[in-house]
Amino acid sequence: MSYSQLFSQRATAIKSSVIREILKVTANPDVISFAGGLPAPESFPVAQMKAAFDKVLVTDAQSALQYSTTDGYAPLREWVASRMSTDGATITPDQVIIVSGSQQALDLIGKVFIDEGDTVLVETPTYLGALQAFSLFAPKFVSVASDEQGLDASQLTAEDAQAAKFLYALPNFQNPTGRMMSEERRAKLVEVARANDLLVVEDDPYGALWYQAAPPASLLSRMPERVIHMGSFSKVLAPGLRLGYIVAPVEIARKFEQAKQATDLHTSTIAQRVVYEVVKDGFLDEHIPSIRTLYHGQAQVMLEALSEHMPNGVVWNVPAGGMFLWVTLPDGLNAEKLLEKAVARNVAYVPGTPFYANVAQDNTLRLAFVTVPAEKIRHGVAQLAQIFGE
Ligand code: PMP
Repeated sequence: MSYSQLFSQRATAIKSSVIREILKVTANPDVISFAGGLPAPESFPVAQMKAAFDKVLVTDAQSALQYSTTDGYAPLREWVASRMSTDGATITPDQVIIVSGSQQALDLIGKVFIDEGDTVLVETPTYLGALQAFSLFAPKFVSVASDEQGLDASQLTAEDAQAAKFLYALPNFQNPTGRMMSEERRAKLVEVARANDLLVVEDDPYGALWYQAAPPASLLSRMPERVIHMGSFSKVLAPGLRLGYIVAPVEIARKFEQAKQATDLHTSTIAQRVVYEVVKDGFLDEHIPSIRTLYHGQAQVMLEALSEHMPNGVVWNVPAGGMFLWVTLPDGLNAEKLLEKAVARNVAYVPGTPFYANVAQDNTLRLAFVTVPAEKIRHGVAQLAQIFGE
């Protein structure tokens, strides 16, 4: 039977993520991988998770193992609403939907907002997983200029801003670049969004992972009436839980709820119950500082190795939080082609090209540094420096 002719146009258009393909290579333990975007497993609070599973299963197994509501476990939604209300706006639980990882939020956003050909505004570069999720709904991506200070809304034309269904923004320690959007740029975005009646999606899985100073206030707190905020427990607890949340104006939240019903009925009941048990008495405020210290230390090792080894003409940013940094090679070098040489020497990274929706800068690459031991970071960077130098 020929299956491929049965696939929908939508399915035919799906491509495997370049990162997932590279991760296959990096399963080899000899490879030093700066490619994967995985959190450091030593940061997973195993004892707290075990105790919470025990407690939930001993005290309330029947409801924890039962189907539950699509919008999520009410006490967890209340917890999210109160946590999201700390930097300015007042968020109510009916604005919160618990999702199966914030990746699901991207899919729901696609389903709820994008018809074929609709304009979606994205950063340059932007999160590959969002491009993949939105692409299923065949939008027209329009790229908005971004630099060290993050997305620059002053470069957005009124025509594009008014035509767009939404702008997808990653203000904190962006994937892939590690950049943080400055106070000035956030203020500018608010001004442009208000002037053009533009809806903004704020994807923020890394905001809590700052090294020395907290980032400026969220976009949600500045204009809750026009922001869909996505958060995640993946980087502050563990990604295997598949737990995230959306905060949105109530009318939009109800649409997400309807779309989610058709997708998976609801997010894992037991995962929600256990995570609520873990976070309800303030555990994250004790736990997150240890992740910040760990990641800051890892970033410093990577930055020192880059300074020591990289040839002239190779430049990178100094992230103020998160798990990534972004390297730009001299013009004319192609990071995708050089990856083959790197893998031949047992070092992997992710080339920048797939993170661009439109015109790609093929001399860029992403380095992830939180899961690689210091010695291997130094060795891996030295190898890359040799390859780029040649
Ligand atoms: N958004 C961004 C920017 C990410 O980097 C990730 C994880 N790689 C996600 C969303 C999805 O995270 P999760 O589904 O684990 O919450």
